[in-house]
Amino acid sequence: MVPINGKTTREVKIGKLMVGGENPVIVQSMTNTDTRDVEATLGQIRRLAKAGCELVRVAVPDQEAAKALEKIVKNSSLPVVADIHFDYRLALAAIEAGVVKLRINPGNIGSSERVQTIVHAAQAHKVAIRVGVNAGSLHRRHLEQAGGDIVQAMLLGAEEQIRLLTAEGFDQIVVSLKSSDVIQTVQACRQFAARWDFPLHLGVTEAGASWRGAIRSAVGLGILLNQGIGDTIRVSLTGDPVKEVMAAYEILKALHLRERGPVIISCPTCGRCQIELEKLVEAVEELASGVPYPLHLAVMGCVVNGPGEASRADLGIAGGKGEGLIFREGRILRKEKEENLISAFKEELGSLITEKFEKD
Ligand code: SF4
Repeated sequence: MVPINGKTTREVKIGKLMVGGENPVIVQSMTNTDTRDVEATLGQIRRLAKAGCELVRVAVPDQEAAKALEKIVKNSSLPVVADIHFDYRLALAAIEAGVVKLRINPGNIGSSERVQTIVHAAQAHKVAIRVGVNAGSLHRRHLEQAGGDIVQAMLLGAEEQIRLLTAEGFDQIVVSLKSSDVIQTVQACRQFAARWDFPLHLGVTEAGASWRGAIRSAVGLGILLNQGIGDTIRVSLTGDPVKEVMAAYEILKALHLRERGPVIISCPTCGRCQIELEKLVEAVEELASGVPYPLHLAVMGCVVNGPGEASRADLGIAGGKGEGLIFREGRILRKEKEENLISAFKEELGSLITEKFEKD
């Protein structure tokens, strides 16, 4: 990312992925299966990969999970990050298992010798480390030093963690500063980006469930990404992590930072709508869900704004009274009864994809 101050972050290698600098913003998620259940975890990783996730984090709470990690890493279609707290032996086991990155908090690993041991193993295996602070678990010392200012305490915490790693000559560091408060997250990341050039992993922590969490994340991440701040993102949502990946791409697509699959626009409907638009939108979303191409699809309720918007789309529907028009790139293709609209749209979508993307 190139922030508005023109300063790019340094590049960090995470397995085969390059993060930071002018590389695209990477979409991450985290499994919520029991890591000890290898099949369930791999199954979720496959679903995440299909949705476009590029890096997956897995919690490693005990040795049994660390053991399972070996099989997970070996069979995962995505590079795996191990999330470790407190026990440095778990971090060493995760490195041995072949993870590409560790998420640790050096402050809760214990003695500096233990942190050193992890860092040296990470160096030897070319494993990156993400450090970071969460506003919910700040060190009392940092809070006191910052006079109770949460954002400043977050910065102090992150800076201390960075110093612990850089003191060992380690620089493959990604940093996160997360709060469940959107403004605190934005301020902390902004101030961090002004002082340091380590890549930033963005997230609004404990954002919430479904649309509420997605909105909170979109506001926080959207502000930062639009200023060129942020190299990887996770949209934290309660529930199926596949939704996190879908929400992450909607944010990145809205900011023209990444392309993945169609952008679908639909009108909110009003008293002019004489067609069951919600059903049509759901059906179009379903049709588009497996499409990897950057198409612009529109589903509009009536002839007032409908044809205009639909005609600007690659493919669109403009509803009428119990019927609808299908447009392609500004041209009316066909007029269909409401009950036939989706099957007709599906046909036209298929032809459009073949002609535009799959000709050879
Ligand atoms: S496109 Fe038509 S139905 Fe949809 S909100 Fe606009 S005026 Fe209402």
